[in-house]
This record gives sequence, C-alpha cells and structure tokens, in this order.
Amino acid sequence: MEIIHLSAECYPVAKVGGLADVVGSLPKYQQKLGHHIKVVMPMHQTSFLFQHQWDTVYQNSIPFFNREVNFTVIKEQKNILGFELHCIQVEGFFDRTNVYGYEDDSDRYLVFQLSFLKWLSTWKNNPDIIHVHDYHTGLIPFLIRNCYEYTSLVNIKTVLTIHNAQYQGWMPLTKSDAFPPWEKWNKGLLEWDYQLNPLACAVKCADRVTTVSPSYMQELFSKANGIEYLISSEKQKCSGIINGIDYAVWNPAIDPLIQFNFDENNFEKGKELNKKYLCNEFGFEEKLPLFIFIGRLVGEKSADLLPEALRIAFEKYPAQFNFLMLGNGNPAIEKELMGIKEHSFDYYHSKLEYNEQLSHQMYAGADFLLMPSRVEPCGLNQMYALRYQTIPIVRSTGGLKDTVVDFGEKNGYGICFNEASVHDIVYSIGRAIDLYHDSSKVNILRKKMITINNSWEKSANDYLLLYKTIS
Ligand code: ADP
Repeated sequence: MEIIHLSAECYPVAKVGGLADVVGSLPKYQQKLGHHIKVVMPMHQTSFLFQHQWDTVYQNSIPFFNREVNFTVIKEQKNILGFELHCIQVEGFFDRTNVYGYEDDSDRYLVFQLSFLKWLSTWKNNPDIIHVHDYHTGLIPFLIRNCYEYTSLVNIKTVLTIHNAQYQGWMPLTKSDAFPPWEKWNKGLLEWDYQLNPLACAVKCADRVTTVSPSYMQELFSKANGIEYLISSEKQKCSGIINGIDYAVWNPAIDPLIQFNFDENNFEKGKELNKKYLCNEFGFEEKLPLFIFIGRLVGEKSADLLPEALRIAFEKYPAQFNFLMLGNGNPAIEKELMGIKEHSFDYYHSKLEYNEQLSHQMYAGADFLLMPSRVEPCGLNQMYALRYQTIPIVRSTGGLKDTVVDFGEKNGYGICFNEASVHDIVYSIGRAIDLYHDSSKVNILRKKMITINNSWEKSANDYLLLYKTIS
C-alpha cells in the first residue's frame, strides 16, 4: 500500500510533543513491513532543515483569499528517517521557527492543506490511504470529497488519528471562502457549534477514526471538549490503537544522549551511574529517591497541581526525596514552580525549558517519573520511563490506564492513583518513598519492566489491518 501521513510535527524534524514522536516512528515501522510511506509536513525553519540535503519536487501557487500564495515541495534526499519525508514551504506562512503559537495558525494550516492537495492532484497514481493527524490536517477528508478541483482524489480513503481532542482548530466559517469551489450544500460537514471545526469535520468525513489508546477512545464517547456527541454518533468507525515507542531511539543500551549505556544485564549499575551523574549536575544527595516530571506545563498534565503538591510533600517527607522538573508552558505555573526552590533548596530543581538531551538522561537516571495527568490520550513518557527502568507514578486515565499496572496488582510494576488531586499526588509520593527503601522489591519491578514490550511492531500492524478494511 502507498500511505501518506500528513502532520504538523515529526521527530526529529520539528517536535512539540507526542505527535512528533508518533509521526517520526509509526511510518518507519510501516515501511519496514513492506509498504510505501511518505510523511508530508510544513517546512518549519528548524535545524533539521539546514542540516540535510533536499530536492525540490514541485512548485506552484494557490489562490488564498485575495492573493496568490507560492509554495514549494521539497524531499529529503536520503530517506534517513526510514521513509520519504516531504516538506512544504509556503511563502509567508512557514518561514518561522515554531510549529504553533502564531495568530494566523488557522491560515497557516489551511494553506498547508490546500498546497498539499494542489500537488497531490498532479500525481499520476493516487495513494491508497491519506492518514491525517489531529486538527491541523483535519480538513483533507472533506476537501477531497467536496471540491470540484480534486475530483481525481475522491476515491482515496482517509484515516484520522486524534492525538488530542482538546485542540480542535476552531475558526470562523468564512475561512471556507479560501477553498477552491466546493459543494456548498455540504456546509454542515464543516460546522460544529456555528464554527468551522476541523477536528469535528474530520470525524464526520474520514473513513476511519482512531485515537491513541483504547481507554482514551472510551473516554471520548462521553468527554471530548464539546464533540463527544459527534464521536459517539460515529462510534462504528472509531477504534483505539495504543501508540508504540521507537525502540531504536529509546534504547538505553545505545542511546547517545545518556552518560552510561546499560541493558538488562547491567541495569542496576547503569541506573546507579546515571543517577549519580544527574545528582551531581543538580546538587542532589544521591541516596535519596529521585522523582522527575517531564512535560508541557499545562492543565491537562495537572501541572497546576504540582506546586502545592510538592510543597506539601516536602513538608510531609522532609529531606526524604529529590524532585527534578523539566518542562515549560503556562507562565503562572512556571513562576510558582520556581518558588518551590526557595523552600526546598537542596531537594528541588526545575529546568523550565525544552531539552531533549536532558529528558533522556532523566529517564535513565531517575527512580520515579510522576504523571498526574487530567487528560492523557496515550502518553509516551511512561513508556520511555519503563524502557529505562524508571518506575512510573500515574493517574489512571487514557493511555496511562492501558500501559501501567500498580505494583500492588498481579504482575504490576508502577504506582497508580485515581484522582488528579493534590492529595493523590502526595499520597503516591509517600508510597514511592516506602517502595524505594525496599530495594529488592524495586529490583523485581525493574526486571518486570524489562519484559514489557511497547515497541511499534504490534500497533503498526494494527493500523495496516485497519487500512485494509477500507482499501
Ligand atoms: P504530549 O504530546 O501531550 O505533550 P506525550 O507524553 O504524548 O505528551 O509526549 C511528550 C513528549 O515530549 C515526550 O517525548 C517527552 O519526553 C517530550 N517532552 C515534553 N516536554 C519536554 C521538555 N520540556 N523537554 C524535553 N522533552 C519534553
């Protein structure tokens, strides 16, 4: 099959969160299974662009409101990511460094999709599947079925994967004036709550809808930021496929971003040396359990609960644990997190930045990873932690529920709690501290983690089986 993944992010080209990790790895595994895979994304001005060689494969322009916008499609020459990578540069819209966060984001992703379709409609042979990821590319299933200019594309099957239903890309309905002439009586397909809602539109128009874990799919039927009714009414075409992680990138035995590589034969020593390195870096006492948090500082991740929870935990368990925080996001939360340092100087440190290298070292050197998320469609951090034998402490929701079993349960290896609350976080930190002092138990849990397989092989195949049901 020929499959095109369309996405705003793809690791290592441009990454904001888990979407990039998925689009950087799933296609590679699908290609390995013998299929022909392309990833098409906007050409963000990241270092990847300047460090690699590109061929120009297509140039043209599209009308966009009152002007003509030029675009260029380029292809990375050597397929170094394990699949064909195409980027679309759209003059005036993507000559910027960040993936999102601009006032004209709606226009940016709209011109990206229109440019892509202009290019695709010149191909000799159509691909079998267009797989769109999140709202940024969610108008594609509608556009190919409803714009007269794209009639050659009308039979291509489409799959939408929802990585996060919180973000839907709402925009005024007048933005549809930028589409090439289309079947206006199908206007209702674009609309949700009197707005143009690209995610809702994709749920209505795609041939299949998936999300990134079975539990999150169940949650979406009753809670999906206003489109739960729509998703449940499209239930028959929806399924949850858990994400895998890229075992080639996230492998403690060869990971170049960690100080001491280790495998199942020397993990005790490996964890110890990596922890020692981290503790030296941040001035922590290495005999104490080291907890980490890595992620966007937003409400979905319960980052707003962390300042209070940590303050109480440091009072309740004084000089009994260290906490290292890596993340950025909401400025008010960042400020509060900085404040913790004043009270718990020797035991707490926060790096309020995005730092890929440090994140790997943290997974390798920590004892516990905290993920108290309110919403977690799949969550990758807990899977990286398991791969580096760091015990995940998670709120049982979405993908966290599907991938972490409490050590009190049969075959368990993590710490789970039910409520995204200060109380549950503090209580779980207490459980973790007790567990840490039972080193033989910790060793048993780490050995169990080694046997867990969260690689992409199975899930990549599940997607292919899904494509076959529609192609
Ligand atoms: P989301 O996509 O909701 O942000 P995921 O758990 O699916 O959450 O993926 C988060 C990814 O982003 C992981 O690879 C994690 O290690 C990485 N990450 C998040 N914040 C940072 C940061 N500040 N520095 C380095 N990596 C980060």
